[in-house]
Amino acid sequence: MSKLPIFESGAVWLVGAGPGDPGLLTLHAVNALKQADVIIYDALVNVEVLEWARPDAEQIKLGKRGGMPSPKQAEITAKLIGFAQAGKRVLRLKGGDPYMFGRGGEEALALAAANIPVRVIPGITAGIGGLAYAGIPVTHRDINQSVTFLTGHDHRGLTPGRIDWAAIAKGSGMIVMYMAVKHIGEIATALIAAGRPADDPVTVVKNATMPDMQVLETTLENAARDIAKSGIGSPAIISIGRGNLLRKDLT
Ligand code: SAH
Repeated sequence: MSKLPIFESGAVWLVGAGPGDPGLLTLHAVNALKQADVIIYDALVNVEVLEWARPDAEQIKLGKRGGMPSPKQAEITAKLIGFAQAGKRVLRLKGGDPYMFGRGGEEALALAAANIPVRVIPGITAGIGGLAYAGIPVTHRDINQSVTFLTGHDHRGLTPGRIDWAAIAKGSGMIVMYMAVKHIGEIATALIAAGRPADDPVTVVKNATMPDMQVLETTLENAARDIAKSGIGSPAIISIGRGNLLRKDLT
């Protein structure tokens, strides 16, 4: 891996670890793990990927997790800045892709404001790679030419008020939702009220790409009931749209 970059002291690399299966790490992510002095990883990162780390690297689990007590974002950025200013090679490891609903942008901005060199290493996001493992292509010619990635709650834990449900119901062939299990009832109601067919296929994929991956197939009108009945919980991706029908031929 001679052409991969050298991790300079005092820098922070913001790295996506992918949705879980360690085989989905990038070469850049492995290169970062092999050099880092300090690894600060998110709640959703599969700890198996830490096997690539230097045995003497300091490993700190620190991340926000919906509905559970979690550190304040300011504490996380302060830690990253502190280690970098102490001359460490700091690896901030996040589930999926760091810029997809992962607060990576906030962390990168805080680091840039503190004049700390930052490198971003994208990862495979759960809403694409995770669905692929469940047999769902996020786009498919003749079915959907557009896909929308949505978060199911805002920073207060509520259904996001700023989402234009009517536009999405009509304009997005495939809707891929992160952090949406809790509010799926309200979301489905809003989408149906805005013209989305009540029988639109819905798939819920929990622990996508992991050996214990669980998949639930339902429809928009039955999603809340079926999710509650099955007990399927977080972390899960919920996809809404006719593209879900392909999974019968792809699994
Ligand atoms: N940056 C991450 C997303 C962070 S938000 C990414 O790009 O994938 C956290 C949400 O991501 C979870 O609530 C869930 O909706 C989704 N998620 C992350 N990993 C997942 C996995 N392995 N299986 C299913 N959903 C996952």
